Amino acid sequence: MLEVKDLYVNYGAVEAIKGISFTVQPGEIVTLIGANGAGKTTLTNLLLRLYDATDGEILIDGENIKDVTVASHRARFAAVFQDFQTFACSVGENVALDEKFDSERVRQALKHSGFTKPLKNGVDTELLREFDDDGAMLSGGEAQKIAIARAFYKECPYVILDEPSANLDPIAEYNLNRAMTEASEHKTVIFISHRLSTTVIADRIYVMENGEIIESGSHEELMSRGGTYAKMFTLQAEKYEA
Ligand code: ATP
Repeated sequence: MLEVKDLYVNYGAVEAIKGISFTVQPGEIVTLIGANGAGKTTLTNLLLRLYDATDGEILIDGENIKDVTVASHRARFAAVFQDFQTFACSVGENVALDEKFDSERVRQALKHSGFTKPLKNGVDTELLREFDDDGAMLSGGEAQKIAIARAFYKECPYVILDEPSANLDPIAEYNLNRAMTEASEHKTVIFISHRLSTTVIADRIYVMENGEIIESGSHEELMSRGGTYAKMFTLQAEKYEA
């Protein structure tokens, strides 16, 4: 179980997080949404211990994350950020982030992330053309699926996905959401998303505004409440209506 208790973060005079508390149960899918600058990325950076909070604490299974080494803490998480990188090495190495990889697990991870591009040498195909004139070149969405596959490949209990569907087409986005739901039988998934299709599959949605959680609940609960989430969702849905 992940517990965030009364967390505060100041960047100099800017109060980015102002007293946030929530709990995530094992196997849950949680989505953080909110306008630009609401504090979502700051919160995920704290979860990964990229830096520490000004005040408050984060506990995993009752233990403060500051009481374990940073390396062992991070080993519990797979994280995919918006500014992911792909590297000039094989697809397998790109997914495993290691020279040694299990080819079958790489193939499974790519399948879950929706990567369907045919590869000349399968998972041994080199990416990019820096070292191999015949290296595979990827579109933005294909590269993103490689990054997402890392989260499926890594054997760890927690997955953090920051805007995972930003470059994905609608079918790929639907498939990713479905794969995430399947994966969450074994993993706890924290999504950050502006796309409200992701929130529909979440067990719990946290709506952030100016460093605070202003609403939380399932999609149905928040829609019937008629607050900020319901307004955001209705506004996005209207874009798709003729
Ligand atoms: P977005 O949806 O745009 O990615 P976000 O909800 O992830 O936004 P954060 O990136 O967490 O928001 O930023 C929260 C607040 O903290 C913002 O007001 C931002 O300007 C400020 N902030 C973030 N990083 C820093 C930093 N390194 N130094 C100073 N202020 C920062």
